[in-house]
Amino acid sequence: MHAAALAVLRSASGRLLPLLESARIAVEEVTRAERGSPQAPRRACRAGCSSCCYLAVSITPAEAMMIASGLRRQRSPDELAVVRQRIHATAARVSHLPIEQRALARVPCALLGPDGACTIHAFRPLGCRGWTSFDAKACETALNDDRPGHDGPQDALLYATAGAASDGLNAALREAGAPAGNCEFHAAVLVALAALETEPPHRSGASAENAPTSEWAASALPAAFAACPRVTSERLRSG
Ligand code: SF4
Repeated sequence: MHAAALAVLRSASGRLLPLLESARIAVEEVTRAERGSPQAPRRACRAGCSSCCYLAVSITPAEAMMIASGLRRQRSPDELAVVRQRIHATAARVSHLPIEQRALARVPCALLGPDGACTIHAFRPLGCRGWTSFDAKACETALNDDRPGHDGPQDALLYATAGAASDGLNAALREAGAPAGNCEFHAAVLVALAALETEPPHRSGASAENAPTSEWAASALPAAFAACPRVTSERLRSG
């Protein structure tokens, strides 16, 4: 996954396409585990079950661009303006909170639908794909107890694959000089939406050897994503 993402980041020209392609490779990896895990039948996760959508989510810049691009495809300009405002309002409330406070705040993800289903399910973050539960009640109880997530069993293969895919993607992004890091979901999607408005058209014929690196170096994108809040933990900080 890491090698494939790095190859694409180094060889494709333009800033948008390599990010989207590297995210697609990571999503494919996790989708394979999602479908092939022997623990899949034990998962209790269903559309409309949304306790985990009140928790902190961190994403890579490549995923943020994938989500922003998907939103632009999926929504009309008016709908996009509404959802962007919702993401902005949610970011203001939660993007700076450590994961424990995020759970306490009881603020749903801005992209959770009124029916309790994810409105970007097809292109949701790696972290959302990897976090599962064998017991929906345990998730609900954890949320009601103000805990950031259940501590019961879940699909260990899927969880590990999503974590490894995210780490591999971030490593590839860093090595390619592209924007990297674990950014708070809402803040990162806002950066990505703004970037897509100003992204120059794709240029073909750039040198495969050095074009991507020099393009990233000349881009404001790495700094914009670096300024996004990171998801932190009070427990880990004090422990
Ligand atoms: S992106 Fe979708 S799955 Fe992830 S927290 Fe938001 S609504 Fe839930």
